[in-house]
Amino acid sequence: MRLFTTVAALRCYLNLCQSKPQIETNSLSVSIGLVPTMGALHEGHLSLIERAKRENDVVIVSIFVNPLQFAPTEDYQSYPRTLDRDRSLGQQAGVDAIFAPTAEELGVNEKLSSRTSVLPPPSMTSVLCGKSRPGHFQGVATIVSQLLNIVQPNKAYFGQKDAQQVAIIRRLVKDLSFNVEIVTCPTVREASGLAKSSRNQYLTPEQTAQAGVLYRSLQLSKLAFQAGERDSKVLKGIVNKELATVKSVAVEYVELVEPNTLMPLEKIEEQGLLAIAARIGEARLIDNVVLKVRQPIVAIDGPAGAGKSTVARQVAAALGLVYLDTGAMYRALTWLVLQSGIAIDDESAIAQVVSSCSIQLTSSTQLDRPVRVWINGEEVTQAIRSLEVTANVSAIAAQKAVRMALLQQQQSWGLKGGLVAEGRDIGTHVFPDAELKVFLTASVSERARRRQQDFQTQEQVDCTLEQLEQTIKERDRADSTRELAPLQKAPDAIEICTDGLSINQVTEKIINLYHKVLI
Ligand code: AMP
Repeated sequence: MRLFTTVAALRCYLNLCQSKPQIETNSLSVSIGLVPTMGALHEGHLSLIERAKRENDVVIVSIFVNPLQFAPTEDYQSYPRTLDRDRSLGQQAGVDAIFAPTAEELGVNEKLSSRTSVLPPPSMTSVLCGKSRPGHFQGVATIVSQLLNIVQPNKAYFGQKDAQQVAIIRRLVKDLSFNVEIVTCPTVREASGLAKSSRNQYLTPEQTAQAGVLYRSLQLSKLAFQAGERDSKVLKGIVNKELATVKSVAVEYVELVEPNTLMPLEKIEEQGLLAIAARIGEARLIDNVVLKVRQPIVAIDGPAGAGKSTVARQVAAALGLVYLDTGAMYRALTWLVLQSGIAIDDESAIAQVVSSCSIQLTSSTQLDRPVRVWINGEEVTQAIRSLEVTANVSAIAAQKAVRMALLQQQQSWGLKGGLVAEGRDIGTHVFPDAELKVFLTASVSERARRRQQDFQTQEQVDCTLEQLEQTIKERDRADSTRELAPLQKAPDAIEICTDGLSINQVTEKIINLYHKVLI
C-alpha cells in the first residue's frame, strides 16, 4: 500500500495505474474507488473500503481532517489523528493508496472565504446539523469536490450514518455534473446499536452503553411506522420520549425530512428520513433511519442458466408484484436506436437518444402473456421481438450510456417498489436496498445438463456435456470480471442452489423467504 501526501504524487500514481492493462479482468480501463474519510478508521470506514474493493480495481482512501468543516468552538484540534494505525488497517483491508494531504497542500486555511468554495443549496445546509453547524456542509462540499476532482474516481463511497452529507453530495454531483457514482453504504453499529464513529472515543464506557438509546428510539419509531403511523409529530414524539429516558442525553434535534431534498415533512407519503443529533458528555452523536412506504422489492441475481428469469416471472405473478423485464427494456432501447437510423457503433449518438427517452412497462399476472412495453409513448411490445432487434440487442446493451440510462429508469420505478427484478447486479447496484435479495446458483454440471436439454427440445445442434461445461465456465468468468455490471453476490443476499430443484420448488422457496423477511 502506498501513502501520498501531495496531489502531484497521487496523480502520478493514478496515471500509472491507468496505463497498466488489467490482465486479470481483461479490461482496458482501470476502475477507481474513492473512500473519503477524516481518519481514525473503524469498522464503519472499513465497510466502505470493503465495498470499494469489491467494485473497483484500485481503491484510494483519503484521510483529511478538514478544517473548513469545523466551527471555531468545535473539536478540530482534539479530533483523533491516528495515521500509523490507519495505515496498518488500510494495508490489511487491501487499500491501494492512502492520500493524506496537509491543509496547505489542499490550499485550505481556516477561513472558507479566502478560497474558492462550493455552496450547496441553503435549503439543504441550513437544516438538521446545519442549524448548529453553520458553514459545515459548505466545508464538506468544497473538500469533497476537490477530492473528486483530484482522484476522478468512478465511484465514491459514503456512509448512511451521515445522511445529510450524502444527500448534499449527491446533489452537488448532479448539479455540477461530476462524472462519478455516489455509493451509500449502510451504517455499521456496535452490539448496543450505537453507530460506530471516530467520536465515540470521547465517551466513557458508561456513556457508550447509554448511547444505545439513539438507535433504540429510532427503532421504536420505525415499529410504529410499520404499524401504519405516518404523522411526523407522532413519529418524532416516540423518539423524544425514548431519548428522555436517559438523563445524560442532551437532544439537539429530532427531525423528519424528505431524504433527498431534506425538506421537513409533516407526514410520510413516500419516504422519510428520521434523524437525531444529541450530545452525551463530550460527544456529539448522530443517527437516522429511513422510513419507506414503498412496496417491497425482490432482487434475484445469479449466473446465466440458473433459471433466474423464469423464476422471477413466477415469483412476481404469485406475489402480485411487477416483473421488471430488463431484457424487454434493452430491446426497447435497441428498437429506438434502430428506428432512429443510428449506426450500432455510434455510441455518442446512441447515448444522446437513450439518455432522454422514457420507457413504460406493465406486466400481466398471466405468465404466458409478455410484459407490455412502451417507449416514448409508443407501444413496442411486438416490435421488440423482431429479428433485427434480437440481432442487435447485445451490442446495444454492452454500451455504458445505455446501461446508465436504464439504471436511472429502473431506479425511478424502484421508488414505488412492488417489483421483482433479475440480473447480475440488481441486489448490489440497481436496488441495493431491496427487501429481499436472492442469489440463484446451480453447479456448472447442472447448468450444462439443463442447456443440453433445451438444445434437445429445440432440436438444435447437439453439444457434449464437456463442451457445454467449458462454455459455461468461460461465461461465468467473463460475467464476473466484465467492466459493466459484473455478476456480484450482495453480502446480504440469500443463496439458493437450484441443483435438483424444479422451477416451482425454487419459486416456492423464494415466496417463503419473502413472507419471512416481510413480517
Ligand atoms: P468520517 O471519517 O467520520 O468523515 O467518515 C468517513 C466516511 O465514513 C463517511 O462517509 C461516513 O459516513 C462513513 N462512516 C462513518 N461512520 C460510519 C458507520 N458507522 N457506518 C458506515 N459508514 C460510516
